[in-house]
Amino acid sequence: MTKYSKIISDKLKKLPPYLFAEIDRKKEEIKRKGLDLIDLSIGDPDIPTPKHIVEAICKASKNARNHRYPSYEGKIEFREAVAKRFREDFNVKLDPEKEIIALIGSKEGIHNIHLALLNRNDISIIPNPCYPVYKTAPILVGSRIYETPLLEENDFLPNLDKIPEKIYREAKIFWINYPNNPTASVATEEFYKHLIDLAMDYEFVVCSDEAYIYITFDGFKHPTILQIKNAKEVSIVFGSLSKTYNMTGWRIGYAVGNEDIIRALRDVKTNIDSGVANMIQDAAIVALTHDQKCVKEIVKRYQIRRDLFVKGLEEIGFEVKKPKATFYIWLKVKEDSISFTKKLLEHGVVVTPGIGFGKYGEGYIRISLTQSEENLKEALKRMKQLFK
Ligand SMILES: *Cc1c(COP(=O)(O)O)cnc(C)c1O
Repeated sequence: MTKYSKIISDKLKKLPPYLFAEIDRKKEEIKRKGLDLIDLSIGDPDIPTPKHIVEAICKASKNARNHRYPSYEGKIEFREAVAKRFREDFNVKLDPEKEIIALIGSKEGIHNIHLALLNRNDISIIPNPCYPVYKTAPILVGSRIYETPLLEENDFLPNLDKIPEKIYREAKIFWINYPNNPTASVATEEFYKHLIDLAMDYEFVVCSDEAYIYITFDGFKHPTILQIKNAKEVSIVFGSLSKTYNMTGWRIGYAVGNEDIIRALRDVKTNIDSGVANMIQDAAIVALTHDQKCVKEIVKRYQIRRDLFVKGLEEIGFEVKKPKATFYIWLKVKEDSISFTKKLLEHGVVVTPGIGFGKYGEGYIRISLTQSEENLKEALKRMKQLFK
């Protein structure tokens, strides 16, 4: 530390404290003792990107045109490839010129949309528990939030009738994220319809984070909000190649939907970044337009892991609802989530305490299935020792 340690902005100081410091310390301590840890806490696929996509970037890297600045909104071929997926997979028509923009991973857009839309007193309604960026972006841009709980009794959907009218009137953004991280829950078309009706009445923007839309099991297909009537009047969708094609490290995603909101997001981005590297876009075009068999294979692996882990948890005595989507299991535990996590850690298994995603995450832990079947079996064995 130097005397500059306190030079940081008030906004940065206002970010919520890092909850996992103690757990990280414990992790290090256990590693030093030489015990190997099985880490089920990371939302980052363990399997490499499919070969044909890696080959595409190798080829694209040799094209000198790809060595120059990309366009802000992304290559038209990339945007057309995104449009193709929405058309073929959801029967949604999008104008690649006006209704689609490339993002440096969807997280980038999820932050920047706040700069595009929110003034100081504007509210964004966010779920609790949630993906942390919905909460930190308003702090960094200096706007307000209203938190709506995701409760098991409501299938982890926000109860739209419980939000005060005053809040709806002051809201400019309503964040939703289905299939959901961390609860692994899914949305219904009825829920989307209800939310769109409210957005039409109160003129807020529905921001739908659909990062896990392709990670669904047992033949279940999750809808996109854009397939609902009037959705394009009031909403944008954030999508990503990260989870669908095991491309978290590549940094490419997209926003699609209402053209005025997409333009606003573009205007912010022209002042912050210079777009997604052209060679990455070329490989992403291959990912999106090639046969989607590789996605089926990726999803099949997660389904095998889900079945294996749910069965193992039930054998230990946990009550588990089989998730229909995502690579997470949101497990109800009988004590506070931090002590539960610490106990597991001492037995060599790392999970995420639910409270890390918000106070309504308390009483749960998030298990990520981004480990080999072998490692998952070993994790179950260790858990069995702890609970039997
Ligand atoms: C992983 C994830 C994202 C971000 O993905 P990018 O890699 O930035 O595209 C967005 N939302 C949720 C809920 C996620 O879990």
